Amino acid sequence: VEAWQQVPLAPPDSIFKLTTAYKADPFPQKVNVGVGAYRDDHNKPWILPVVKKVTAILLNDPTLDHEYLPITGLPEFISAAAKLILGSDSPALSEARVASVQTISGTGANHLGALFLSRYYPWNGQPVVRLSNPTWANHYAIFKNVGIAPNDYPYYHPVTIGLDYDGFLGALRDAVPRSVFLLHACAHNPTGVDPTEEQWAAIADVMLEKGHYAFFDCAYQGFASGDLDRDAFAVRYFVGRKVPLLVCQSFAKNAGLYGERVGALHVISSTTEEATRVRSQLSVLQRSEISNPPSHGARLVSLILNNPDLFEEWKRDIKTMAHRIISIRQELYDLLTQELKTPGNWDHIINQIGMFSFTGINPTQSQALVDKAHIYLTANGRISMAGLNSKNIRYFAENLDKAVR
Ligand code: PMP
Repeated sequence: VEAWQQVPLAPPDSIFKLTTAYKADPFPQKVNVGVGAYRDDHNKPWILPVVKKVTAILLNDPTLDHEYLPITGLPEFISAAAKLILGSDSPALSEARVASVQTISGTGANHLGALFLSRYYPWNGQPVVRLSNPTWANHYAIFKNVGIAPNDYPYYHPVTIGLDYDGFLGALRDAVPRSVFLLHACAHNPTGVDPTEEQWAAIADVMLEKGHYAFFDCAYQGFASGDLDRDAFAVRYFVGRKVPLLVCQSFAKNAGLYGERVGALHVISSTTEEATRVRSQLSVLQRSEISNPPSHGARLVSLILNNPDLFEEWKRDIKTMAHRIISIRQELYDLLTQELKTPGNWDHIINQIGMFSFTGINPTQSQALVDKAHIYLTANGRISMAGLNSKNIRYFAENLDKAVR
């Protein structure tokens, strides 16, 4: 009974707290731009039509049962997932240099990757991961949990509301050799600011020079541009350049399978033999953590990835989501710049990519939007574009305009 007397009360997760407050708010015009989950134009979660279709297929498949999957996951899911992110013509795949494991969505992939590094990475001193400033807040907790200390690198430039390219490159150059850098593969969360292809090339140059390790987190493939291949550019380019790396992959956003927890971790090695050793240790770690991953979501995604017609249909569904977000960006931009003549430069609204936009407004202005306008957003001024639609965009723009005047 005395056991938990010293346990301090933890604060609630800031994003989920925001959602709870939004749900409890009776105000009819309330807007939720906090959580990063896709909503359709009616502000409803969207079950992808292709997912509905494969769910029906699974339901009627008499050969399926509820047996355990292998420790590393559903084989036909893992191999197809690796092709999706690395490209079907990837040298790493044809040379059998990839150790892939099915994980509990992207969070689980980050965790397993971090755990593996904590055990086996040839650290140059104390285990440290370099995280972009800012980054997905959970990165801090995930690495700390396995004894790897987080340390920021410059990424976002508040004045340009864009990439702090010089700061980023400088940090890569100044870091101790063999540092681990976490990189967002596309649609950086929370800023929506990604390096250009030329900038990625220069980043790869320095990483190779210094022997750094790239820990890629890819939670939004297809969501950024609407094109799965284009959004995989950085990862494939780095693999081609032979930058040592791993990739965390999530199907939460691009397949709308948030709650099904479908993901994978891919560790690229320099030889088949090395990949075999890496896979064996990932399997040991996975066994002690979750024994084996869940089957349902992996079966859904596997059906989509391995059937050419369903795959084409999925690509259309992804375009539906990505293009709605891109057009909402344009609409918001037009409202602010042409109609409301809101003070300041709003180019970043259309230049940023993916689910999120960093508006550049300060914590006081953000709080004013929550308190006065019932518009729920995080204090850092990040908005989820998916929370905007044809019905609420004017209300949102007018209140953003008021907040910055
Ligand atoms: N990484 C980043 C950068 C994310 O934004 C997210 C989702 N918020 C994740 C990983 C993991 O999400 P999930 O575990 O739902 O796949």
